[in-house]
Amino acid sequence: MSEENKNNTEHNFDPTMFDPIEPVKLFDDYYFIGNKLVGIHVLKTSEGLVLFEAMDKYDVDDEFLIPGLKKLGLENEKILILFLTHGHFDHYMGADKIRLRTGCEVALSKEDAAFMLWGPDNYLDIEDLRVPRITRTIEDGEDLVFGDHTVHVILAPGHTPGCLNYSFEVHDNGQAHRVIMVGGYGVFGPGIYPGKHEYPHSVTYAVDQALTFATSCVKTWEYCKENHCDVYLNPHPHLCAMLETDEKNKARKPGEENAFVIGLEGVRKWIVERFDVCLECAQKFSDIRKEY
Ligand SMILES: [Zn+2]
Repeated sequence: MSEENKNNTEHNFDPTMFDPIEPVKLFDDYYFIGNKLVGIHVLKTSEGLVLFEAMDKYDVDDEFLIPGLKKLGLENEKILILFLTHGHFDHYMGADKIRLRTGCEVALSKEDAAFMLWGPDNYLDIEDLRVPRITRTIEDGEDLVFGDHTVHVILAPGHTPGCLNYSFEVHDNGQAHRVIMVGGYGVFGPGIYPGKHEYPHSVTYAVDQALTFATSCVKTWEYCKENHCDVYLNPHPHLCAMLETDEKNKARKPGEENAFVIGLEGVRKWIVERFDVCLECAQKFSDIRKEY
């Protein structure tokens, strides 16, 4: 993989990334189960559990979800729904088994439900790739209510054609905070896929997706401002400093703020970092400024 591509993908193949970690309790009603690379986010509502993401292997229920819920004392909670952020294998592989085991719905945008189906041919060559069944397609701006919690859906394409962000409230010692969970991170250039010279993974497509992603960053920021988001999360723990922040929380003294609460300005910094990378990538992918 070229240096350029390495810098532009979220998939870093350091083997220690796959080691399981202790489940993390981020808030009174919010948890993470997984490894250092990716995991399942768990929102506890008055009606049961809402899951986000299904990790990168088929047996994720046996290897991660069920043991993780037991450790957290949540094994008797009903699992209501599994939200996916986007149609990449490292987010959806465990979805079918979780659905078959718990009977929960699996939700994604219709754009990425379609993208997943042709993804295997032109995305990474993953052995035993299993595309899950999507039982519910969700739309931009939709609010889904689960007892005392509401999940807001934001369509934020660019990382994939139908990538989603989610926003919802969590609680710390009873005080409400608003999460923005940003689904996509990497900005993909024309060289990342097999068959890279074929449409759609060509230069124009890569530039279009980078600029679309930049627009999605602006849209996400506008939402965060209006709704006072003060917590930023990503399905990948290393892309939202989750483990470092959890370490800070473990040393937290009574009366101190939860370290995951970074305020609107903290949220803005994460979004701006992506916005800038998107614009730089659009410029770089095009080569249009190079003398011919
Ligand atoms: Zn992805």
